[in-house]
Amino acid sequence: ESTIVMEMLEEVADRFSFQMEQRAITVTIDVAKSLKEIMIDRDRIDQVLDNLVSNAIKYTSDEGHISLCARLTDTELLEITVQDNGIGIPKKDLSRIFERFYRVDKARSRSMGGTGLGLSIAREIVRAHGGTVLLESELGKGTKVTFTLPYPRNEEAVV
Ligand code: ATP
Ligand code: MG
Repeated sequence: ESTIVMEMLEEVADRFSFQMEQRAITVTIDVAKSLKEIMIDRDRIDQVLDNLVSNAIKYTSDEGHISLCARLTDTELLEITVQDNGIGIPKKDLSRIFERFYRVDKARSRSMGGTGLGLSIAREIVRAHGGTVLLESELGKGTKVTFTLPYPRNEEAVV
C-alpha cells in the first residue's frame, strides 16, 4: 500500500490523541524530508506503531513526552523510532522484554492492563517484513524503540 510516512505517524498520534491529552502527554513527529511515499504493509505496520505508542503512553507519567521519528539510514533502511521519557525498564529485564507474556514488575504492570504480548507481536511483524527491532531503555529516564524495514520505495510514485 502506498503510504506517506508523515501521514502514517500523524495518524497513529491521532488514534491516541484523546489518551494523551487526558494525561497532558505531548508528542512530536519528525520525518526526514527525503522520505516520501513508500510501499508498505500498512495494516501490519500500524499494528506495530500502535503497540509501541500504547506502551510509550502507558509507561510514561503525566506531562511526559513522546517522539516519533522516521529517516532513511546510510544502508537504505527505513528507520522508525518511538521514544518516551517515561519510567524506563530495569537492566535485568531488558533481555526478556520481547518474550511473550513477559512484563516488568507484575505489580506495576497489572494496574496498567494488557497481557505482555505487544512487543513480541511487534517484533514478529517487523521480522516477517525483513526488519529488525531494538529497544534501549534507562530506568527512570525513558525508552527508545527503533525498528527498521527494507526501504519500500514506491517506484510508481516517482514522477
Ligand atoms: P500488551 O502490550 O499486551 O497490552 P504490555 O504492554 O504489558 O501488554 P508489552 O508491550 O509486550 O506488554 O511490553 C512488555 C513489558 O515491557 C511491559 O509490561 C512493560 O513492563 C515493559 N515496557 C514496554 N514498553 C515500555 C516502555 N515504553 N517504557 C517502559 N516499560 C515498557
Ligand atoms: Mg504493550
